[in-house]
Amino acid sequence: MRVAYLLLPALMLLPSLANAQPELIALQPDRILSGEKLYESGEWLLIQEGYVVEVVSTEAELPPGADKQRLNGKTIIPALIDGHAHLGYQSVNSWGAENYNEANLLDNLAQYAYYGFSTVFSAGSDPVALINELRATIDLESLPVATPLAAYGVAPTGYGPNNSFLDEIRVVEVELETNILFGIDQPSDIQTLIKAIKPKQDAIIKIWVDDRAGTQPKLGQSLYAELISQANQQGIKVVAHQQDSEDTARLLQAGVAGFLHGRFEDEISDDLGRLLAESNTFIIPNLGLSLLRSMTISEDPLLYETLPAPTLSRLSQRVFAGTNDALSASGANNQLEQQLKILIENLEPSIRKSFASAIERRVPIILGTDAGALPDHYFGYTGHKELEIFVALGMSPEQAIATATSTAASQLGLNDRGVLEKGRRADFLILNSNPLGDIRATQDIYSVFLLGKELDRTAIIGKLMQDTRN
Ligand SMILES: [Zn+2]
Repeated sequence: MRVAYLLLPALMLLPSLANAQPELIALQPDRILSGEKLYESGEWLLIQEGYVVEVVSTEAELPPGADKQRLNGKTIIPALIDGHAHLGYQSVNSWGAENYNEANLLDNLAQYAYYGFSTVFSAGSDPVALINELRATIDLESLPVATPLAAYGVAPTGYGPNNSFLDEIRVVEVELETNILFGIDQPSDIQTLIKAIKPKQDAIIKIWVDDRAGTQPKLGQSLYAELISQANQQGIKVVAHQQDSEDTARLLQAGVAGFLHGRFEDEISDDLGRLLAESNTFIIPNLGLSLLRSMTISEDPLLYETLPAPTLSRLSQRVFAGTNDALSASGANNQLEQQLKILIENLEPSIRKSFASAIERRVPIILGTDAGALPDHYFGYTGHKELEIFVALGMSPEQAIATATSTAASQLGLNDRGVLEKGRRADFLILNSNPLGDIRATQDIYSVFLLGKELDRTAIIGKLMQDTRN
């Protein structure tokens, strides 16, 4: 009694001292999927100053002064990563070079954040210096948007992306008086390129190995092999857009870090699958790119909440590419869910087979959407749909979430995010339902946290709609 009495004055000082301390937040959802582990026994996610302190087993182990919040029925997963997109060209209104500026890049990144993405890799269609500066500003000012990563785009001089995208990229190059695409036509061009980008931190090269149905020259095998070899010696990752599984095998042999398209329709053989897994080389299936264009996505609440009326009206011209007989026969309430199901059932058997084999062989599959590479393939939204496709093709929901979190982070060299563990960024989603039961729970977002701060998702939508009027 006496001791407690004596302690009283000191205790009375504690609240003000506690306020001076960096805030500790402890969240207790029904489950935490860390990206690597599943916690379902009432564990707490403890965060401080934007980073994860640790996952704590019991309330008794929480440090004193932690602000405790119980999240009944909720699930916490790491914020998502899109491993293949093209920022800047798509706005909420239109698509093209005229949109490429800092304000629209920030809008794109805000749209990603709205959908629960912490990071996006924009693959070879940006001035890298501009994206790096933007990233530095985002970090410095703690802007509530996703982090952008960029790559140097490399192909034979004057070529690379699909022909209509190529035209837009060239317009941006002229407007901003900078290089986005770098031409490689002879071995000496490789040294020049490597020399130019070597001092840049975390540089990534994206190569296009594709003749675009005979309309472009294809980057030759000896040139890309030399490029990859020299880049790898300097610690620069090379990722590839490839045309078919033959190119996949050759590029793999040459030491590429990953593939931005699955090319599963061309069948990933057992041998190729084994080599991908053994060499820990990632592959991005990128299946939604064609499937979503064959669906009436303007009816999807997940999409229409972020787009203005004129854009939705344009999108409503899209018709379902499958047969309506099959759709009505399905008798389901949710048309879009059925559309996706029918389209997936109608995929070439080789795609299903290659995909199943890749899962079985533990090929590092990561999420990528190619959002922004062509009109009306929207940021964030397409990523959630891709996860649905992965599960429909045989992944477990847990594996699907790993493609967009832990696996994506490790493959892209992002050691500060993607897993909810000690010392990493507190970037996470609180979901209203359990994604392990139904992957579409990733679309049912209660809140998004980036660097430990809750995002004002309503404000993001308000800003996007305001830009519509300008
Ligand atoms: Zn792309």
